[in-house]
Amino acid sequence: MLELSDIHVARGDFALAADLRIAPGARVAIIGPSGSGKSTLLSLIGGFLTPQRGQVSWQGTDLLPLSPGQRPVSFLFQDQNLFPHLSVAQNVGLGLRPDLRLGPDQQAQVQDALTQVGLRDMGPRKPENLSGGQQSRVALARVLLRARPILLLDEPFSALGPALKSEMLALLGRIADRTRATVLMVTHDPGDARAFADQTIVVDQGRAEAPQPTQALLDNPPAALRAYLG
Ligand code: ADP
Ligand code: MG
Repeated sequence: MLELSDIHVARGDFALAADLRIAPGARVAIIGPSGSGKSTLLSLIGGFLTPQRGQVSWQGTDLLPLSPGQRPVSFLFQDQNLFPHLSVAQNVGLGLRPDLRLGPDQQAQVQDALTQVGLRDMGPRKPENLSGGQQSRVALARVLLRARPILLLDEPFSALGPALKSEMLALLGRIADRTRATVLMVTHDPGDARAFADQTIVVDQGRAEAPQPTQALLDNPPAALRAYLG
């Protein structure tokens, strides 16, 4: 269980309050207006922000003393940060070792991750020679190599067209199934939540609500969400 208890995080004039529990293996969407605190919530779980108050734990272990690298999480952000001077394989290898001193076993893991995302033969290429969708896959392969139990995605596919996006969501779903990862994905598209997430957290004006079944929530949205969904 991922537990956020009595959380209060302040960021300048903004504050986020959260009190919620997420079961291992859950697929959770996080939706809400711009500036409501969605990215702040992920940053808190990832260890990039320290709360003024409250607890964050995973399977009973207190995460707050742990640095981002020590936490059981991996991230995928919208801005994929592929390094243009490195090959696709090296970009993925960064998920294993930031200094890229990969032994044969680790190189095999990189190749395996590339194969999983459908880029088996693309390792030697430079990112600029890949399509946008392929670049997204590279970023996903890098995250996969970290193989942490919690996967945090912040509007990961929002730059992609609808067809590519649904392909990436399906790929993410298959990967989450196989790795039994607990996935939290921020999205501004309710369609993404319906396609991917069994539960959805609404964040509104600095309040993160407990996860609710996605379909019921979106079929009958609360007032705050109705305004936002339009
Ligand atoms: P969302 O992801 O829902 O759009 P964020 O969590 O990024 O919202 O931001 C919520 C609020 O936190 C913003 O409106 C802003 O006031 C504040 N904030 C975000 N990032 C920073 C920062 N780096 N420094 C100070 N305040 C920030
Ligand atoms: Mg954000």
